Amino acid sequence: MSMQSDESGSYSNFLTDGCLCCREGAKMVLFVTGVCHRDCFFCPLSDERKDKDVIFANERAVFSDADVLEEARSMDAKGTGITGGEPLLEFEKVIHYIRLLKSTFGKSHHIHLYTSTAPSSDDLKELSAAGLDEIRFHPPIEIWDKLPDSAYAKSLKAA
Ligand code: SF4
Repeated sequence: MSMQSDESGSYSNFLTDGCLCCREGAKMVLFVTGVCHRDCFFCPLSDERKDKDVIFANERAVFSDADVLEEARSMDAKGTGITGGEPLLEFEKVIHYIRLLKSTFGKSHHIHLYTSTAPSSDDLKELSAAGLDEIRFHPPIEIWDKLPDSAYAKSLKAA
């Protein structure tokens, strides 16, 4: 898909709040697990993280909630992007961190999540109720030519 800039040469009008926050360098990256059920040929995970049950806030290894909050404070984070591995394999952990970040930094702390799964309506409701602001779907390459008939289409609509 190509994207065109507006008259001022800016892409801002086309970007989501999560992207704008990221562009400012104001998003903390919260890596909730290196475990993933897929094996994408382009997987960018390092050996230190791939398939490991580890948590990182930016480059800080996380052993407690305090580590996450300290990292967010150290960069004056206005938001958090939750990633992995496959974050939704750790659904309760994701809910926990969304609640922790929202209750500590307030509703305006913008949170988005990446997933290669197609979450059910119930799971999407739970994520939204916890405070998730945006979700990014990364369907696996083998179904790109059948997306309209896939579970991703339903999930996208529900989201
Ligand atoms: S879904 Fe993401 S983490 Fe999992 S194998 Fe693919 S690129 Fe790597």
